[in-house]
Amino acid sequence: MYDAESMQLFGAVKAICDPDNLLNPGNIVEPAPLDADLRAVRPRQAVTAGLRFLHDDGQLANAVHRCTGVGKCVAPTTTGVMCPSFFATREEKDSTRGRTRVLQEALDGTLVRGLGDPAVAEALDLCLACKGCVSDCPTGVDMATYKSETLHQLHDVLGEKRPRSHALLGQLPRWAALAAPVAPVVNRTMRFAVVQRAVKALAGIDQRRSIPASRLRRCAVRWLGVDVSVRRCRTCGSGPTRSATTSSRAMRTQRSAGWRPAAWKLA
Ligand code: SF4
Repeated sequence: MYDAESMQLFGAVKAICDPDNLLNPGNIVEPAPLDADLRAVRPRQAVTAGLRFLHDDGQLANAVHRCTGVGKCVAPTTTGVMCPSFFATREEKDSTRGRTRVLQEALDGTLVRGLGDPAVAEALDLCLACKGCVSDCPTGVDMATYKSETLHQLHDVLGEKRPRSHALLGQLPRWAALAAPVAPVVNRTMRFAVVQRAVKALAGIDQRRSIPASRLRRCAVRWLGVDVSVRRCRTCGSGPTRSATTSSRAMRTQRSAGWRPAAWKLA
C-alpha cells in the first residue's frame, strides 16, 4: 500500500514514539509478508467416497476443506443451532471446526493413520449428526454427512470393527419392533436395576443414561424395503437420524436399486 520510502519514514517516527515497539508490533511498520499466515496447500488423499459430494467434485477431502476456520461454531453465543456438542463440552475438538480440522489432517497426511487414526473417531464420537452446522455454517460444512462417509470408510472400506454400541444402537428400529408386541413385559423387566445395568453394559451405553420405555406402536420408516430413518417419522415427528449402520445399509440398498447415493447436503 505504501512505497518503501514511506514505510521507512513510518518506522523512524514509530521508533521515536514507541522505542520498545509495544504498539501494534508488525502491523504497519515491518509487517509480516502477505502470505505469512496462509495455510499451505498439502496434497489431499483421494478417497473413493460412497456419497457423491456433488458440490465438492465428489471428494470428501474437498468437502472437509470447506472449513476456513471462521469460528462461527465456537462463538460464545449463537442465534442458530450449532454446535450442541460444543456447547455441552466447550472443547474445540467437539466443535464443527475442530472436527473438520481433524478430518483435514487425516486426509492431507498429517495424521499418519489417516481416517483410521484414533483422533478421528474421538473427534466424531460426540457429533450428534443433527445437521445444525448445515444451516448455520457460513461455508456449508455438513459434519453429519462427513461423519457418515468417514464411518463408511472406516468400517466398510478399511474393515475396522464396529464398536458394539454401533451394531446394537444402529439397529434400534429392529429391536424396537421386536420389543413392541411385549412392550409392557419389557418395560417391567427394565425396572430392575441389575437388568438395566446388564443391558447397558451389553449395548455399550453409559451407565448414567436411562433407557426409554418401549412402545406398543412401532415407530420406523420403511424405505426401499429397509428401515432407514432418513425421513421425518410420521408417528413421532423425529427428524433424520442416520446412524453408521443404517447409512451403510441405505447406501447398499440404493446401489442395488441402481442408484448412486448422493450427499444429503447439496449447498
Ligand atoms: S452435525 Fe455434528 S458437528 Fe454439526 S452441529 Fe450437529 S453435532 Fe455439531
